[in-house]
Amino acid sequence: MRIFFDMDGTFVNLYGIENWLEDLQEENVRPYRDAKPLINMNVFARRLNEMKRHGFEIGVISWTSKNSSEEYAERVTKTKKDWLNKHLKSVEWDTIKIVPYGTPKENFMKDETDVLFDDEERNRKNWKGIAYDVNEIFTTLKEIEKSA
Ligand SMILES: [Mg+2]
Repeated sequence: MRIFFDMDGTFVNLYGIENWLEDLQEENVRPYRDAKPLINMNVFARRLNEMKRHGFEIGVISWTSKNSSEEYAERVTKTKKDWLNKHLKSVEWDTIKIVPYGTPKENFMKDETDVLFDDEERNRKNWKGIAYDVNEIFTTLKEIEKSA
């Protein structure tokens, strides 16, 4: 079973950074770099690593910023990967897809058992597998693990 996570608004508090939108429009990576975690990263890392040991594949599918230049998209991609290394150092992701804004996330599905955690309703609706909002992320992960 494969489990994918969105980043911004799902476990990264990008929107908690003051003037995040203006900075993104000015192609500044600061909000991506300085964003705080939305959930406890120690608990999250432990949960992900345990699920990996039990045979789950884990991945990130995250967009670059809207109307971004190619050059900014490259910087954002690097900044997001750095964020993951900094805050979830012990986690070995099977996939990290940082893709252009608006890329359909369901393009990365293999089959209907694939799970997505995403704060955006349209991504959850378009996902052909099982998609969850970000509330109770730890409880949901535990339930997925138990039911597999
Ligand atoms: Mg999001």
